[in-house]
Amino acid sequence: MRPPHTAKRGSFLRVSDPRTHSIDQLGEHGLIDRVRIKSGLPPAGIVLGIGDDAAVIASERGAHDVVTTDSLIEGVHFNRAWTGARAIGHKALAVNLSDLAAMGATPRASLLSLALPKHFSVADFDALVDGYLDLARAEGATLVGGNLTMSPGPVMVSVTAIGAARPRRVLTRAGARPGDELYVTGTLGGAAAGLSILRNGRDRASLNQAELDAVDRYERPLARGRCGRIVAKTGGANAAIDLSDGLGDAARQLMQASGVGVILEGVMVPVHPAAQGVGGVNPLDLALCGGEDYELAFAVSARRRSRFLAAIRRCGDINVTRVGRFVEGTGAWLETDAGRHVLPTGFEHFTA
Ligand SMILES: [Mg+2]
Repeated sequence: MRPPHTAKRGSFLRVSDPRTHSIDQLGEHGLIDRVRIKSGLPPAGIVLGIGDDAAVIASERGAHDVVTTDSLIEGVHFNRAWTGARAIGHKALAVNLSDLAAMGATPRASLLSLALPKHFSVADFDALVDGYLDLARAEGATLVGGNLTMSPGPVMVSVTAIGAARPRRVLTRAGARPGDELYVTGTLGGAAAGLSILRNGRDRASLNQAELDAVDRYERPLARGRCGRIVAKTGGANAAIDLSDGLGDAARQLMQASGVGVILEGVMVPVHPAAQGVGGVNPLDLALCGGEDYELAFAVSARRRSRFLAAIRRCGDINVTRVGRFVEGTGAWLETDAGRHVLPTGFEHFTA
């Protein structure tokens, strides 16, 4: 973000009703000042945060910097008719933290770039930034800068996250070997079920516990940061990936990066309970293809299995399930009662 030298701190307070004020009334500097004040003072490792031409971050001794970026575009990744501004802010950071988690990296800083229509309300701006900052604080991904621009149409939220990892402890997609087992954290298909519920405009009061949890999964994905870091640090896995586009896609990505084949066992896949209630879709398909669960998948060798499971027990309230195995050759298959079939490609995104 550009330095708010010309902005007066008072601009933060000048808005009497954020719901009726639009962001163009505050202007770029007023908005940046608003974000800076919300952010508070950065921690010691951040030499210079929001407010200069660039941020300055002290390198962590003996660590590699791990950097990732991702964008959420209105109409592609979310629809404002059923996704609130706070959820958009949370999610934009969470999807990046999920990538850091998959690498075994600890978040340190983040950059937020927003392209917003000029009639976006100040209340929605505040909610988006608050959703972002709450997660940033909880996960140590200090907001150190970014950019603000007007969009002629859709809301666009781009985030860059920066983390640190020990050089020999970085997890990649490329380490899976024949004989390794494939594990996933949590349950799958919940986010897709949640999106389906929101899209159908169902009244929250009518939802059961599983459905409420599914909506929460969609709106507020929880990157498995602690889990990725502990598994990486203890050397419990050969490869890892986060589940942004479903287990089917993740298995393929591991297969291609590692140069091995992969077989998923359909009966083993931990399907979120709300996925059963989504009409017209096989729950297993939702779990494999729905995406946006942001769980982690690990390739684990037999030799490291007990080390891996011990690491998972240290991650808190997280379960892992063995859902498949890696084999010689290349190719991705799904085993079900109906036999072994090629894992389908061209996964449809259950988004927007
Ligand atoms: Mg990823």
